[in-house]
Amino acid sequence: MDLGLDGKTAIVSAASRGLGRACARSLAANGVTVVIAARTPGPLQETAGEIRADFGVEAIAVVADVTTPEGRAALLEACPRPDILVNNAGGPPPGDFRDWSREDWIKALDANMLSAIEMIRATLDGMIERRFGRVVNITSSAVKAPIAALGLSNGARAGLTGFVAGLARQGVRHNVTVNNLLPGPFDTERLRGTARAAAARAGRELEEVLEERRQAHPSGRFGRPEEFGEACAFLCSGQAGYITGQNLLIDGGGYPGTL
Ligand code: NAP
Repeated sequence: MDLGLDGKTAIVSAASRGLGRACARSLAANGVTVVIAARTPGPLQETAGEIRADFGVEAIAVVADVTTPEGRAALLEACPRPDILVNNAGGPPPGDFRDWSREDWIKALDANMLSAIEMIRATLDGMIERRFGRVVNITSSAVKAPIAALGLSNGARAGLTGFVAGLARQGVRHNVTVNNLLPGPFDTERLRGTARAAAARAGRELEEVLEERRQAHPSGRFGRPEEFGEACAFLCSGQAGYITGQNLLIDGGGYPGTL
């Protein structure tokens, strides 16, 4: 399917690896110029170089922390008029709510709620004027089925989800949509990092913990980041102009509910 994205421009934050990188790659494969961000220069430049080499499109690397005003300003300076905005940031650490201070909460809200809202605030009106815009926020399956140890994520992402629900109806008349993608377990550094910590706590081997998690999942495997990236590209496509305000769970059947 031709997604109708040739020549469009996208900002993809938090995209040197994992799900953000996969989204940037799938967009680039459809002719989109991508402006990608991460805090660590080396892997970010490497990802931009791979995108240019693999898809023959421009890929601009912006070293930036998207949770800070300076980081977001740098991204917007590199791409003031994006057609597509994919909001992403690192997930907060697991823990017990009794140990979290106000500062811990503010950090989680900045990363997983407010930075996305600020990026939308800076770009949505331009999309409406140009009569095309796609905003995709990477959230988590924890929005639908909270994970107790990830209370910071459950709370902050639910806040973004509520905001998006109200916003999504405001642009659709002008071909501007806003949706959330909810990943289940995907084989990324984030997933391996949390599994590594669980293995260390239990005195077990990482691979043993990973295999146990794969087998406990209905699909018997973790998602591949490319599968996530392709769904993102579709939501950004010309064909997806009638899809807005949705929370699309991509979890290989992990969520056990009917709806
Ligand atoms: P990942 O493999 O750890 O990759 C995170 C990417 O984001 C890296 O490129 C990282 O680069 C960048 N990043 C992190 N914080 C940033 C910041 N403040 N500013 C700019 N870039 C930043 O993570 P992932 O698995 O792709 O996860 C992406 C998001 O989905 C996270 O919020 C995660 O919690 C959520 N999620 C993931 C899963 C899963 O199974 N993988 C499931 C549910 C939800 P630098 O560190 O160099 O900045």
